[in-house]
Amino acid sequence: MSHPPGMERQHGRRSLTAKQAGLTLAIALLLSILAGTIELALDARAMHQEIIRDTSYRLELVHGTAAEAAFQLNPELATQVADGLFSGGQVASVTISDDFGRAMATRQREYEPVSGWVAHALFGDILQYQQTLYYLAGPDHSPQPVGELELTLALDRLISDFTDRSLLIFTLGVAKALAIAALLALVFHGFVTRPLLRVHAAIAGTDPRQPGRWPKPDMGRHGNDELGHLVESVDQLMLAFQEGLDQRDQLHQISTMDGLTGIANRRHFDAFIAREWQRARRNGYALSVVFIDIDHFKEFNDHYGHVAGDDTLRAVAEALTRAVNRASDLVARYGGEEFVCVLPDTDLQGALRVADQIRKEIRALGIPHAYSTQSGRLTASLGVASSVPAHDNASVDELMAQADGQLYRAKRQGRDQVAAQT
Ligand code: GH3
Ligand code: MG
Ligand code: MG
Repeated sequence: MSHPPGMERQHGRRSLTAKQAGLTLAIALLLSILAGTIELALDARAMHQEIIRDTSYRLELVHGTAAEAAFQLNPELATQVADGLFSGGQVASVTISDDFGRAMATRQREYEPVSGWVAHALFGDILQYQQTLYYLAGPDHSPQPVGELELTLALDRLISDFTDRSLLIFTLGVAKALAIAALLALVFHGFVTRPLLRVHAAIAGTDPRQPGRWPKPDMGRHGNDELGHLVESVDQLMLAFQEGLDQRDQLHQISTMDGLTGIANRRHFDAFIAREWQRARRNGYALSVVFIDIDHFKEFNDHYGHVAGDDTLRAVAEALTRAVNRASDLVARYGGEEFVCVLPDTDLQGALRVADQIRKEIRALGIPHAYSTQSGRLTASLGVASSVPAHDNASVDELMAQADGQLYRAKRQGRDQVAAQT
């Protein structure tokens, strides 16, 4: 059986349905045993009454014939009566005797003597029957005692009948318990476990970075019950979680982005270069930085105004982004009209190519700068430095100081150019 992601069977985990079915079965069995015991006690009482009633009825039925046989001293008739009584199956012995106590007919069954107090407690008191036989004789036809009928019931037969009935009662009780437990387990599984598994699968299948897009399950007819409410609560939780993540991302962006140009700010640059320096040292890569400073930007501001100055800074940031195209590179505003590029896994030659591309992109902007000593358009000077942190015994600060030094060399050498330590 396959499980949705995150739903692999954990060691020792048991299904809710199995737990519920086990519990229901245990309760149903317990109740059926209790009910069975009560039913048995009632049944034993009913059977007790039944035996007395049946035996008395049969004795009454044969009384006339037995009395006649005793009166006539007719052993054949007495034997017929004894046989009739004996055929019932539950009888252990029958004796019909005449007035003088002589047995006229005796029938006896061999049977296992029953020990055990339960059997005796149940039926021990209803085994013996003794009846004086009366016959209407004499001139006044008054009832005269003519003999005696003795009957003993077989306790083993009574107990075996009772055991058969008990077994049936218990078997039916247990079968009912099983049927109820199975039915409840089925209903519980359909109503609770399956929808819960769907909710769990949906939660487990949620991308933790996008909780707001969790596959909220449609609970159908559970929409208005506890399961539906659970899903709604989870949904609200996911949305709140998403809102928190969005706010965190916004804050992160605000704290790492330069408000004027939209590229990385100085804080982001500091963290980025520290991280890249460590990475380059671990991997033995080169790491390069390019410092960019706009030429005669003070004059630009003074003559064209700060609004135009700001527009120009934005345009330069875009030009830098165009010139630096590796995803692992970073373009940041270092401060004022100074920018910096970090080029991981790039040696001096590569960094020089990028720096020259930047210089060309800025010139290609074609922003007029009538007060520049250059060709009447906006230009920038660039300083490049490169290091292999694993080999050079240097630090980030030294790398940046080098790039800064080269930038000033470019300025001194006439601006609109790239300078690098060779
Ligand atoms: P150089 O060629 O030697 O770099 O000359 P420069 O005039 O560019 O000299 P400097 O770097 O000292 O000038 C920085 C000027 O940049 C000062 C200020 O007028 C301008 N500036 C700095 N930050 C901003 C800004 O956020 N917006 C605008 N509009 N101008 C800025
Ligand atoms: Mg400057
Ligand atoms: Mg400048």
